[in-house]
Amino acid sequence: MAYSHPEQPRNSRMAGSAASPSISIVVPAYNEEEVLQEFHNRTTEVLSTLGGPYEIVYINDGSTDRTLSLMHEIRDIDPNVTIVDLSRNFGKEIALTAGLDQSRGDVVIVIDADLQDPPELIPQFLAEWKNGFDIVYAVRTDRAGETWLKKTTALGFYRLIQSVSRVPIPKDTGDFRLMSRRAVDALGRLREQHRFMKGLFSWIGYPSKPIYYRRDARAAGETKWNYWQLWNFAVEGITSFSIAPLKIATYVGLATASISFVYAIYIVYKTLMFGDPIRGYPSLMVVILFLGGVQLVFTGVIGEYLGRVFDEVKQRPLYLLNGVHESRMASLGSTNDMNVRPTDARV
Ligand code: UDP
Ligand code: MG
Repeated sequence: MAYSHPEQPRNSRMAGSAASPSISIVVPAYNEEEVLQEFHNRTTEVLSTLGGPYEIVYINDGSTDRTLSLMHEIRDIDPNVTIVDLSRNFGKEIALTAGLDQSRGDVVIVIDADLQDPPELIPQFLAEWKNGFDIVYAVRTDRAGETWLKKTTALGFYRLIQSVSRVPIPKDTGDFRLMSRRAVDALGRLREQHRFMKGLFSWIGYPSKPIYYRRDARAAGETKWNYWQLWNFAVEGITSFSIAPLKIATYVGLATASISFVYAIYIVYKTLMFGDPIRGYPSLMVVILFLGGVQLVFTGVIGEYLGRVFDEVKQRPLYLLNGVHESRMASLGSTNDMNVRPTDARV
């Protein structure tokens, strides 16, 4: 396996010396009215056993159902809750980034609202963080409630991305993870528009440690991913972290050129030896169509990259905020000065 986990003892770490670090839980939510309350209850139960200060940062990613008002109901009762309300639906990756930007704990844990990531793993995450790992990520050993087709395509995707990507991307790993403050700050400096989070998490590096768990089926509600979106996700992952498709174009071009050169010599030889009865229309069509197809495919590949360049050069902010409702727990101080945190649009 290409991905290696540094196992040497670590005592060079800067953050995290406190016995009970302050914890931020970052939860992107898009139309999660059915599970939000249950999520909150389960997570709070786990967090209250830990003893340290914590905040739960809910990001409302432009939900069209009661998710936002539910968040407010929860926050009215629970002073540990922060709500980040985005101006529209930006997608999970960006919602996550907005939450990370607002988080202020010594350690930050990213988790899905649908309870597919069991909050009960949090104590294990913390234990590994105390052992000196900056990133502790959960690896699924089993994907309950997912179809055979989804499992197979996911496997194929990880194989492909492992082989073409310039940074190793661990397999069967979602966004569910713990990050130290310095890792979150490092991630916060990557402001690219096309956010393939699995890749960005790997890109920052730092000592990392996997934890294995069984992924549950969704507690309620539906996955927001269809196959078209998954395909786009795969294209995103490959084009954000590899230029292999552009290189393939060069080699396919070279290969076809050499084959046609050999074929041309053969035709000249045949014509000289046996004359030239007018035939060969089918083979001509095959060659024309084949080359036309190859050219269109690679024009498309170049288009994918060009489109990404186009999106980046516009330098738009990643997201806009409709509002931030901070937790009422002033004690959750940490590395940042929380009094000067911006509450309006930021890059
Ligand atoms: N999500 C989000 N914005 C979106 C889509 C999803 O914030 O546009 C959140 C969603 O509420 C959930 C998490 O991202 O907390 C994972 O979404 P989902 O369960 O649909 O993805 P899957 O688990 O199938 O990968
Ligand atoms: Mg899910």
